[in-house]
Amino acid sequence: MTTQPCDGCGVEVTIAGGIANIWTQEHTPTGGITLELVDDTEHFLCFDCIDRLPDEDVTADDVAAL
Ligand SMILES: [Zn+2]
Repeated sequence: MTTQPCDGCGVEVTIAGGIANIWTQEHTPTGGITLELVDDTEHFLCFDCIDRLPDEDVTADDVAAL
């Protein structure tokens, strides 16, 4: 178990390690996820920020705008 700052809001997020499946809706200890965006960048984001992103075609600009 470790923490990583969210790229969107800067909050320290607890992560279980590795890339989890955010769509399973299960109760996991992971509070964020690393997303690969359509512009081939990767950003670690908490679920609050993920909820505010567009459903598709997310770019680094969208993350920066959070
Ligand atoms: Zn966040």
